Amino acid sequence: MTKTTRTPHPDIQPALKPDRLYCAYDPFVCVECAGATALATGMTIGGAPVTPLTVGEVVEWAASALGPLQCQGQHLEATVGTDGSLEIRRP
Ligand SMILES: [Zn+2]
Repeated sequence: MTKTTRTPHPDIQPALKPDRLYCAYDPFVCVECAGATALATGMTIGGAPVTPLTVGEVVEWAASALGPLQCQGQHLEATVGTDGSLEIRRP
C-alpha cells in the first residue's frame, strides 16, 4: 500500500515526512505540494515555518465549516477521530 512518490532531490534529507499534513503559514500542505524549499528546509520560500498540523487546527477548521481540511493540492485530508486523535487519509 506504500505508494512511491517522486523525490526531486534524493540527496537532500527531507524536513517533512510523507503522509502528514503541515501548516505553511496559510495553506495546508503535504510533502507533495509543499515545494522543494519547504521539503528541504522546513520553511516556505517566503521564510514562514512549516509546522506539523495539530488537532487544534483541525478542530478550528471544522468549526468554521469550510469543508474538509485538505492540503493545497488535495492529496491528503485531515479529520479528528472519535478518540480525539489526528487522522490523515487520502480523500
Ligand atoms: Zn498535498
